[in-house]
Amino acid sequence: MNVHILTLFPEMIMDGLHTSILARAMDKGLITLEAVNIRDYTLSKHKKVDDYTYGGGAGMLMQAQPVYDAYMSVKERMSGPARVIYMSPQGKTFDQELAMELSQEEELVILCGHYEGIDERVLEEIVTDEISIGDYVLTGGELPAMVVVDAVSRLIPGVLGNRVSSDTDSFMDGLLEYPQYSRPEVWRDKKVPDVLLSGNHAEVDKWRRKQSLLRTRERRPDLYEAYIKEHPEAEKFLQ
Ligand code: SAM
Repeated sequence: MNVHILTLFPEMIMDGLHTSILARAMDKGLITLEAVNIRDYTLSKHKKVDDYTYGGGAGMLMQAQPVYDAYMSVKERMSGPARVIYMSPQGKTFDQELAMELSQEEELVILCGHYEGIDERVLEEIVTDEISIGDYVLTGGELPAMVVVDAVSRLIPGVLGNRVSSDTDSFMDGLLEYPQYSRPEVWRDKKVPDVLLSGNHAEVDKWRRKQSLLRTRERRPDLYEAYIKEHPEAEKFLQ
């Protein structure tokens, strides 16, 4: 996957994403990431990218021209058509399903706003999707873009390594994941559940299924109800 992020703070993106698992995925060529500085495309001689909003009101707005030209420079270099995502508190709320959908794309362009946001006309011109990471307002789209790239990247085959899979992660099958334990067997008088030490894989699977259902019912009744509606037989694991 090739990810192109349009931003006023490219170093924030590169520093934030070029670490750990994602850095390895980039080194292996599974993902390429470029952060394009929108400021490089302004025609203003003072390198300005924002201006006052028409109609009054406090705050500055990112102007259409530099955003459009930055996008066009990326478009020319792309192998084919791409979804252009504007990170926005007004967008569709990001979730695992959307992450899975985006992980199928070959090219992704992500646009980060700042200040009061971006002139509506350029959004109408280039954006295919608006995505929010939750009902709160941040100062810029860089952190939201990083959230999306991180969640999407780990679903690309090979990124988590061959032995690790995202299949059992929370939300992948509509439930939260079961609790997990590592060494030592006893820590501060708390013992790892016996079944996990039994070596009986069928029993371990049954225990995990039950814990997953219990945890989801307790913490996310909305998810639990939706899951049970589709899989009524799953309730037998709770008996
Ligand atoms: N005035 C805008 C509004 O009320 O809808 C908010 C602008 S916000 C201060 C600046 C930028 O941060 C936005 O253009 C967007 O790119 C990003 N942003 C802020 N909150 C976000 C969220 N919850 N999800 C995604 N992006 C967000």
